[in-house]
Amino acid sequence: MLYCEKCRRLFENGVCPSCGRNGRQSAPDDLCFLVEKESVWAGMLADVLRQEGLSFLQEGRMGAGMAARTGFMTERYRFYVACENMPKALEIVEGLFGGEKE
Ligand SMILES: [Zn+2]
Repeated sequence: MLYCEKCRRLFENGVCPSCGRNGRQSAPDDLCFLVEKESVWAGMLADVLRQEGLSFLQEGRMGAGMAARTGFMTERYRFYVACENMPKALEIVEGLFGGEKE
């Protein structure tokens, strides 16, 4: 698998589907984009990932100004996990959210 450092995404071959840059070979500890969820679901997902012992990075998508304007509850979070943990993390996401992709 190839990896885009800018988007933190894995892809099979060619260039990054998000930004069109060339990827490099992925490493097991590269942080990869898992899923993006609204704050209420993000909290639930974070709990389960912790219970499963998967380390992850949770990143708010909006800046503080945007969150203030639209209301805190619409804040969305992106989750990243190490490439080597992606299969397990995807299982958890599918278990929680029925494989819904965003
Ligand atoms: Zn990219």
